[in-house]
Formats: sequence, structure tokens, C-alpha cells
Amino acid sequence: MSRETIVLGAGMIGVSIAWHLARRGRSVLLVDRQRPGRETSFGNGGLIQREAVRPYPFPRELSKLLDVLPNRRADIRYSLRGMVKAAGPLFAYWRHSAPRQHARIIPEYASLITLCTQEHAEMFTAAGAEDLIKKQGWLEVYRSRAGLDARAAEAQDAAERFGVTHELLDAAGLRDREPQLADGPAGAIHWTNAWGAVDPGALVAAYAEAFEREGGRFLQAEVSGMRQAGQGWRVDTDAGVHEAQEIVVALGPWAGDWLKPLGYRLPAFVKRGYHMHYGAEAGRRLHHWLLDAEVGYILAPMRAGIRLTTGAELEPRDAPPRSGQLDAAEAEARRLYPGLGERLDPEPWKGARPCLPDMKPVIGPAPRHDGLWFAFGHGHQGFTLGPVTGRVLAEMMEGEEPVVDMTPFRADRF
Ligand SMILES: Cc1cc2nc3c(=O)[nH]c(=O)nc-3n(C[C@H](O)[C@H](O)[C@H](O)COP(=O)(O)OP(=O)(O)OC[C@H]3O[C@@H](n4cnc5c(N)ncnc54)[C@H](O)[C@@H]3O)c2cc1C
Repeated sequence: MSRETIVLGAGMIGVSIAWHLARRGRSVLLVDRQRPGRETSFGNGGLIQREAVRPYPFPRELSKLLDVLPNRRADIRYSLRGMVKAAGPLFAYWRHSAPRQHARIIPEYASLITLCTQEHAEMFTAAGAEDLIKKQGWLEVYRSRAGLDARAAEAQDAAERFGVTHELLDAAGLRDREPQLADGPAGAIHWTNAWGAVDPGALVAAYAEAFEREGGRFLQAEVSGMRQAGQGWRVDTDAGVHEAQEIVVALGPWAGDWLKPLGYRLPAFVKRGYHMHYGAEAGRRLHHWLLDAEVGYILAPMRAGIRLTTGAELEPRDAPPRSGQLDAAEAEARRLYPGLGERLDPEPWKGARPCLPDMKPVIGPAPRHDGLWFAFGHGHQGFTLGPVTGRVLAEMMEGEEPVVDMTPFRADRF
């Protein structure tokens, strides 16, 4: 059983970990009930967010909270049930979002984010998946001058402290980049060292194939149990029992389900989100990924069409979908980009961002079990952070000094 490792979950996080471990010579079994990259890592905005050094705080200003209350905004929606179910973690999230706490979290979060493009580049080169990546940056569009000015100050700070590059565009500069947008926005920040994937699920699948070329094995099976057995671990699945010396829990929004039986009470919660693909009217193409920042949705020119992704919905993970948030975002998107065509999918896609209250993932050893490792809770940037997470977790598991100080990401911080 020496160095035998089972990675549970084949989203962007689990696949990246499995690839890094296999490259280091481990015998790795990657398990998922679906093909790799078919859940949260499939439906996201596809941005590799080199600029995202400031994790999203919970709104603190009274004016914003009052604005959210009627539940009509596109960026945040909630249900009473969702708020009550996640009341503890949401209250902790609100506390961690206070300016002083948030300022402390930024450099910790940035320590991972700054490595995101270099680590993706290593993986997509090995996977031969360069054609899935666009390196043109993305546009954060502001309708108001005040919003643009405030964000420009943050962009300057991110440039000086964390090497994030950007261009500040006024209305004419924005029109130059995207001639099909309606008049009105004050301008945009063009984040120039961020990238986008034109088919996020296909990128994860390509990384999984690269993992298999390194000698790794993928098993499509539903995990139904995990427990310590002898010197290692036993994982029960609907395709048999598998044993290994070490296991990694990379189950994204489902990770929490498996922690309680092991005696861990981590304050995990989810922010749900939707996507829909649209056509574009002839001759009215969209060239860049674009965030309508003060409204709160993304338009992403992908292979399958223009993908609109919504902001956060505070609902229990498995509650039925609601259409209001996507409808509201679509109406705003048609005003900003009149070239947006018809809906292309029969139903909106729904997923759930796996979150923790201090906006940072958990990456590292389980505090009370030998051979058990955690990697989940990557919130809004799990697609961005997969390859970095794979690298640092593999370094820890191999007893190497991780490239980043991993103290801020330990599970026992809660
Ligand atoms: C609308 C939206 C837009 C987003 N946009 C971006 C973006 O532009 N950039 C960015 O960086 N991030 C973005 N994110 C966040 C990002 O998608 C997530 O953080 C990331 O995909 C999480 O990856 P993961 O591997 O942890 O989880 P997942 O991709 O969900 O993988 C977990 C896997 O566990 C498997 N699993 C669960 N239970 C079991 C079981 N019992 N047995 C077997 N397998 C099981 C699932 O099938 C799944 O494949 C967005 C998220 C949403 C919802």
C-alpha cells in the first residue's frame, strides 16, 4: 500500500492535486461519481483571476444591506431558509469582512492568487490544452464614475503590492475594446494579466487526461463512506471498496457532508450561482469576458455561446432552482449589450460555490487523523486556484517546504 493515495472529487481542485501527486511518483486513484469537471468546475465563469487578490467581503455598509433586503438585485439573492440554515457561518463571514480583518486576509489570499497563472500554464502545457485559454485579460465595467474611481484605487494598490496589471479605461477606451456595448458606462478596469478558459469543463477534463498519462487512475463511482482501516484508509463506493495509505477530500460543496461523521465541524456554506448560454446577433460579437460590476453578473464569450454567470444566491445547496436572479441579470445584460441573442440551453445550469467564512480555502492535513488531507472551500476562485492548490498540497504531503506559507489555510484555524 506504500504511497497509495485516493483523491475524492474530480473537480478543478481534486484533478489538480491528483496530477501533482502522480507527477511526484505516487500511485493515485481519483474518484468521482461523474466524469472529471462536470459539477461546479464545469459551470463557472472560466476566469483565471490573477487580479483577485481581495476576496469578496460580505456587504457591510447599511446602504448596501438595505438595497439587498427587497431581494431584487442581480448580484445577491437569498431565502429566509438559506439565511437561517447558514446563519452561523454567515455571521462569521460578516465579522471577517470588517475592514481591519479583511485587510489582514488580503495578503494571505494573494499569496495563492499570485501563482495562479504560472501554475495553470504548467498544467495546460502538460495537457496540451493551450487552445482552451485566452490571455487577453477581462473587463470590469463600471456604470458610475464613483464606482470606477474607487476600483481604480484598489487596482493601483493591487499593482504595487501584488503585481496585478491593469489599464484604466474611460468610456471611449471601453468602446474601443467592446464597440457593441451601449453608451452609458463610465469606463472599465481592463485586468490585463488575468486569463479565461473558453470551456472550463473541457480544461478540467484535459487536466484529468494528463493525470492519467502520468500513470494515475480515474474511477467513476459514488463514494458512500470513508474510515480509518489499519495504517491507512478505506473508501466505500458503489464500485467496490478501495484502500490507500492517504486520502484527500476535494469534494467542493459536498465536502461538508463528510466532515461531520469524522468529527469536524467546519463552518462551510455555499453561495449558489447559475449560468445560461446565449447567441450573439450577427456582426455584434463580444470580444472579452466582462463583469457588469455594479449590477453583478459576468458575460463570457465561450465555445458554447456567450455564458452569463450570476452572482451569489444564499440558498441551501440542494433547494430547487429559482429563476429570478438569472432573469434580472439577463434583463440588465440586454441593456448593456444589445447584441445578446437568444437563450441556447433548455434549462439554466445551477451550481454552488463552496465557501468558508474567512474567505480562504482549507488546504492541509486534517487536525486529528493521520493520512487525511483537506482541500476545499475555494469560494469564488476555485477554478483559478486549482493548480496552485494541487502544488502546495502535494508539497505538504511529500514533506517538502510549500512554496507558500500554509498556516492561514489550516483546518484548525476554526
Ligand atoms: C456561477 C459560478 C461562477 C464561477 N466563476 C468562477 C470563475 O470565473 N473563476 C473561478 O476561479 N471560480 C469561479 N467559480 C468558483 C469555482 O467554480 C469553484 O470554486 C470550483 O469549481 C470548486 O472546485 P472543486 O473541485 O472544489 O468542486 P467541484 O468542481 O464541485 O468538484 C467536486 C466533485 O466532487 C464530486 N462528488 C461530490 N460528492 C461525491 C460523492 N459522494 N461521490 C463521488 N463524487 C462526489 C462531484 O461530482 C464533483 O465533481 C464560480 C462558481 C459559480 C457557481
